[in-house]
Amino acid sequence: MLILTPTGGQESQEEKIYDVLIIGGGPAAFTAGIYVARAMKEAIIIEKEAPGGQVAVSDVIDNFPGFIEIKGSELANRMMQHVQKFGVPIEFAEVTRLVKEDDLFVAHTADGRTFKGKTAIIATGATPRKLGVPGEDKFYGAGVSYCAVCDGHFFRDKVVAVVGGGDSAFTEALYLTGIVKKLYLIHRREGFRAQPIYVEALKKKPNVEFILNTIVREIRGDTKVNELLLYDRKQDIEFTLPVDGVFIYIGMLPAVEPFRELEGLEYDNQGFIIAPETTETKIPGLFVAGDVRSKELRQIATAVSDGAYAGTKAVEYLEELENAKSGGSS
Ligand SMILES: Cc1cc2nc3c(=O)[nH]c(=O)nc-3n(C[C@H](O)[C@H](O)[C@H](O)COP(=O)(O)OP(=O)(O)OC[C@H]3O[C@@H](n4cnc5c(N)ncnc54)[C@H](O)[C@@H]3O)c2cc1C
Repeated sequence: MLILTPTGGQESQEEKIYDVLIIGGGPAAFTAGIYVARAMKEAIIIEKEAPGGQVAVSDVIDNFPGFIEIKGSELANRMMQHVQKFGVPIEFAEVTRLVKEDDLFVAHTADGRTFKGKTAIIATGATPRKLGVPGEDKFYGAGVSYCAVCDGHFFRDKVVAVVGGGDSAFTEALYLTGIVKKLYLIHRREGFRAQPIYVEALKKKPNVEFILNTIVREIRGDTKVNELLLYDRKQDIEFTLPVDGVFIYIGMLPAVEPFRELEGLEYDNQGFIIAPETTETKIPGLFVAGDVRSKELRQIATAVSDGAYAGTKAVEYLEELENAKSGGSS
């Protein structure tokens, strides 16, 4: 059940200055919101799509402590209810620009609104990386998918390929094995980045075949996907593979475009924003939490950890500002 807290009319928001603007509405954002609200500061969460981020489109989560096994949508909903229990409003809008003006952070949204905050937390997460091959865009929604949980049911008793070698590829492939007739796991290397527990589980499935050292060169079809053109790197040959669909899990792209104007933000070579575990950026009052931050492990647990840090550090920063204004020390 969605419970959305109204934030009042457009006029009042435009005038209002929040303590903390939280951009994004996934686990990192919700955790930050809880920490800020519990410290009696006023935060707002601005989310462009569905609350819960990637968790909302994940099938079953079984590695987040306290939840032995829970549907992603259910966990997303619980997190949202948790932050709302502390009175943090969730506003639905896409932030297109975040700038700093006169010591305030100003978030401009696609629908023409602005939100102002004394501090800001970037928690915009990441989105799936594309293969970049012919047919990928053309057949998106017609056999090409980046979300097994969302689209898997369209492929009941059909033949699909999953592309990738990381945790997401394997967990989503495991999910699909219960739906499809046959599944090919296509990976460009011999070895996998995925955790061995997932690799072993997939190997045991009778309807799975691994195609290794192989890359996808083209996704072909008529009105929908009907085959892949593959290239075997070891044998240096091209071949086609008939499939009804292809699920692509080859990494993530950080959602950083709205922050390009902020001078002083640093990015790693994959485009993720650099900040230490404390989530503090080089820009005073600006924090970065969750999958959008440069780090090794992108999981709910690490996003939640970042959110806790970002919320805490934002509150500390606000208190320093207040102390400086009153000329006192705490
Ligand atoms: C298929 C799948 C399965 C997974 N399974 C697991 C698992 O089993 N266990 C586990 O621990 N992790 C799992 N993960 C990873 C986990 O979901 C992420 O690490 C976690 O959700 C990251 O949280 P986040 O808050 O940093 O970002 P996200 O969850 O990506 O949330 C970011 C939010 O920001 C919003 N946003 C982006 N740009 C803007 C903007 N400009 N304006 C406003 N809002 C914006 C997005 O719409 C999104 O809702 C899985 C991920 C996927 C995709």
